[in-house]
Amino acid sequence: MADKLVIGNWKLFGSNERIREFAIELKALSAGRLDAQQVVICTPYPYLATLAAVLPEVGVGAQDCSVNTEGAFTGEVSAAMLADVGCRWSIVGHSERRQYHAESDAGVALKAVAVQQQGLCAVVCVGESLEERKRGDHIQRVASQVRASLEGVAAENLVVAYEPIWAIGTGETATPEQADEMHGVIRQVLVELYGESGRALRVLYGGSVKPSTAGGLFACDNIDGALVGGASLEAESFWQIVTAA
Ligand code: PGA
Repeated sequence: MADKLVIGNWKLFGSNERIREFAIELKALSAGRLDAQQVVICTPYPYLATLAAVLPEVGVGAQDCSVNTEGAFTGEVSAAMLADVGCRWSIVGHSERRQYHAESDAGVALKAVAVQQQGLCAVVCVGESLEERKRGDHIQRVASQVRASLEGVAAENLVVAYEPIWAIGTGETATPEQADEMHGVIRQVLVELYGESGRALRVLYGGSVKPSTAGGLFACDNIDGALVGGASLEAESFWQIVTAA
């Protein structure tokens, strides 16, 4: 694999048993070719430590993180706790969090800062709805989402994931042209925010990435990897995507 980054997002799926099986299968398929800097899996919180123990060949990531460091915040998990169980990454601002938990751009930015303060890498998600794309507002919408979701966020330990909401879990992948166009826009905003170091930041595509579509997406200059949901749950399809990178 070249220098692409592939992150699996298991969402609300998995069990200790499933992770152990997945680890055995992925180790067999990859035969020593996994690189924890380039292949990451984000499981539900209870399984992070299991993943770190049984599959140290991949980076371990969470799917969300509290803005708080400690205190009376029932149900929350801090970035320091994530680091403590071997986690090096955390997704923040996934569209499902924004939709079901009313997360705002400003709240997402605070989470990304909390993640970075513990030395973890924040994977900040953005993406337009189908209505916004149909109206032709998608470029402007995503550009403003990137600016607002990165308020106060450092360029170090930062990855941006473009995930058009209409492509998530629908089987409808954005075309390489659609994704590449938006990634170019995002990169421009990153340069505007961080200067030349913004140009080197990785921008991942997410939304129904499959083994059959990964190659076309990864061929685009502006696409630095993928955030993979459904297809990351099976070792074989996940490995096919990793090797397309
Ligand atoms: P999907 O999910 O690959 O199942 O569309 C991607 C994501 O939501 O991160």
